[in-house]
Amino acid sequence: MSDAQYDVVIIGGGPAGMTAGLYASRAKLKTVLIEKGLMGGQMMTTTTVENWPGYPGGIGGPELMMRFQEHCVEFGLETDYGTIEKVIDNGATKTVVVDGKEVTCKAIIVATGAVPRKLGAEGEAALVGKGISYCATCDGAFFREVPIAVIGGGDTAVEEAIFLTRFASKVTLVHRRDELRATKILQERAIANEKIEIAWDSVIDSLESNNMGLTGAVLKNVKTGETSSIPLEGMFVAVGVTPTTGFLDGLVETTEDGYIKAGEDTKTSVAGIFAAGDNRTTILRQVSTAVGDGAVAALMSERHIGDLEHQAK
Ligand code: NAP
Repeated sequence: MSDAQYDVVIIGGGPAGMTAGLYASRAKLKTVLIEKGLMGGQMMTTTTVENWPGYPGGIGGPELMMRFQEHCVEFGLETDYGTIEKVIDNGATKTVVVDGKEVTCKAIIVATGAVPRKLGAEGEAALVGKGISYCATCDGAFFREVPIAVIGGGDTAVEEAIFLTRFASKVTLVHRRDELRATKILQERAIANEKIEIAWDSVIDSLESNNMGLTGAVLKNVKTGETSSIPLEGMFVAVGVTPTTGFLDGLVETTEDGYIKAGEDTKTSVAGIFAAGDNRTTILRQVSTAVGDGAVAALMSERHIGDLEHQAK
């Protein structure tokens, strides 16, 4: 990162951030994208993206993200790695504190996405890496020919359950209701898969383990109150996500769950700070919507900077 002032600082290198970077660089705005982990965000732990247009048969999440990155670098986007400690609004300029270093800019695009939510079961933290995982793509292959469970009923849980049947002897999909939230095509595939058993109306009552790791779980039927113990060597938790917005420390308005309050124009409660992708209030969180947000946020940043320049004359 150079010491010069940027027009735009983009925080987060997932589909939303990279698209914002592509559009902002192509608009000749001096832009830097800062990522704290792996460029590509949640897509880096997604096996196949089936609903990204233009790729019949699907494309691997990491491959798609590699193409995104190549594409934005082609337009001159500067990228860097670091953890954002603080964002300060000085009015016409903003300051982003990255690993103790201050970077100034005229507009910020917050595209920090979200991270998997924890189940909240007693003993869960101690069993992470010893049977409990939040990423089937990363850890699925460790569970060959053993029984495992996936917790949740959304797209992630059902996709992961289907993927994990490649390795596991049996996958129990534990869902707290009698209807899955996942899209219909995924539901049909899961129901038709002989290796998947769905434990409807069920939650994890407790985890069972020995000094080697997870050995099972007690399921509780929320309608009847009945409990039953199932042997497990692996458990994949897919109960939704938490937006990565804590570092903003109340600077912009958020919902109680931490989602940044921003509409389709990506404007937040602070002029010059825009929110794009999974971390904002929206009805759909997909690569396609994140990409749309990134493009809009770049345009809104360009307009904001134009207005600042106009006011300064
Ligand atoms: P999600 O849609 O929020 O689903 C979370 C699931 O976990 C829900 O079924 C929910 O149950 C359940 N749940 C929540 N808290 C729980 C708890 N404490 N105990 C037990 N179960 C709990 O999250 P997601 O599946 O991670 O998806 C996140 C977003 O990414 C969604 O917008 C999704 O469409 C998108 N996504 C899309 C694709 C795709 O298009 N291929 C793939 C993955 C993700 P209830 O249903 O009862 O609320």
